[in-house]
Amino acid sequence: MSVAGMYEAGKAPDREVVTREDLNNFEHLRKLVTGMKLDAQYEVIPPAGIVNLNRDNHVVICGPRRSPIVAQVLEGDDNLRFAKDTAWHVVDQVTGKEYRSPADEDGSAGDVGYLGRLPRLDGKGTFLYLAGIHAIGASGVVHYLENNLAELYREVRTRRFSTLISCRYDPKSPGEPTRHPAVPTRRLSMRVAIDTQPGGAAPNEDWVAGTPTLAIVLDGLSTAGLDTGCRHGVPWYVAHLGSQLVAALADPEILLAAGLSDALERVAALHPECDLRNPGTPSATVAVLRQRAGFLDHLVLADSPVVLEGHQDITVITDLRVDDVLVELRAEVEQYETHTADHKEALRRFVAAQRQIRNTPAGYWVAAADPEAADHAFAGCTATEDVRAAAVLSDGVSRLVTEYAMATWAEVFTALRTGGPRELINTVRKVESTDPTGRRWPRYKSGDDASVAFCQW
Ligand SMILES: [Zn+2]
Repeated sequence: MSVAGMYEAGKAPDREVVTREDLNNFEHLRKLVTGMKLDAQYEVIPPAGIVNLNRDNHVVICGPRRSPIVAQVLEGDDNLRFAKDTAWHVVDQVTGKEYRSPADEDGSAGDVGYLGRLPRLDGKGTFLYLAGIHAIGASGVVHYLENNLAELYREVRTRRFSTLISCRYDPKSPGEPTRHPAVPTRRLSMRVAIDTQPGGAAPNEDWVAGTPTLAIVLDGLSTAGLDTGCRHGVPWYVAHLGSQLVAALADPEILLAAGLSDALERVAALHPECDLRNPGTPSATVAVLRQRAGFLDHLVLADSPVVLEGHQDITVITDLRVDDVLVELRAEVEQYETHTADHKEALRRFVAAQRQIRNTPAGYWVAAADPEAADHAFAGCTATEDVRAAAVLSDGVSRLVTEYAMATWAEVFTALRTGGPRELINTVRKVESTDPTGRRWPRYKSGDDASVAFCQW
């Protein structure tokens, strides 16, 4: 536990001290966790407010004005915000209501405390944060935790949340406040960590985005050097489709498939001078996860999966219709090592054949120039409370599990939690470097563009 320190009045600033309230808070929390067979130590945050938040099992008790680092993390709370006019107070950003300390309002014995599980700066976990408008407010929060921990855990589990605890106390024994929640405990919005890396020297044809409500991965399809009828190219196509999709889904009411249809139409309108009827027109897979009130919507079109980590099991949502067609031509590509002329020639034949059946009832569907493809996407929704984390991936990453069988989905989520998206992509590259020519794992190229959007709550 990190507790704010200050310099004692009148003494040289060579050693910081902790207030009696804060020490008392630490003692109460230590007793609470000892009852759960945990051990606790505390350290003092120096008066400059510099605290290392990138640690596991960390509790921070420190007013936001005491630490610029904590103040920055609090900026990310879209539920509650500390503010100051005549006095410090907290604004409920959902309802607009202001919460002030009774001590500042009418001098009565009470305060308001903030309690939240907030993201670490390194994105690899969270810490528990307690602060009062005045020091006594933090004691109210500690008192609340002592009496309501099990209930709170049932509600938020390991997710990020924030709430306010209102407390009253007897001015004669301020160490024993009574308390009750002043606002409902609310989970913080989805947090998306993204990364994308090209598979080789060629430009990246993947595209990824994360917003507080959306995670999107697009994987541009290989042209194998064949004519496309478009002078812009695949990286241009995915960048514009992605941006138009984010724009189309700005309205949370619109269905994902309708948003995709809109976006396809808008991108087509951006290059009318190109031959959009060319069967090789730039195209891409689409994978989208969207958070809205209580639910997570998903949409997949072609083989970029949305993977949901539940509390017990893992659900992979993917569209593998592309694998059901042209089986012989694919087998032909896969019999050659990736650097050979035979491989290149077979891949060209395979892509040429794919183009003939792409976006036809006999083949499989991808995002291209025709908005109709959106009607063929797989879409659905899941209750948010059933999902612990989610990953939206291009197949350049998901193949670590599905093709290479070098990790399980549970291991992928562990890697994402501890190392983030970049680390997971690096793992894929390391595995591929053990088989650079595709002898063990036949594939279209030695390394494919790889994208990850990792969603946590
Ligand atoms: Zn074009």
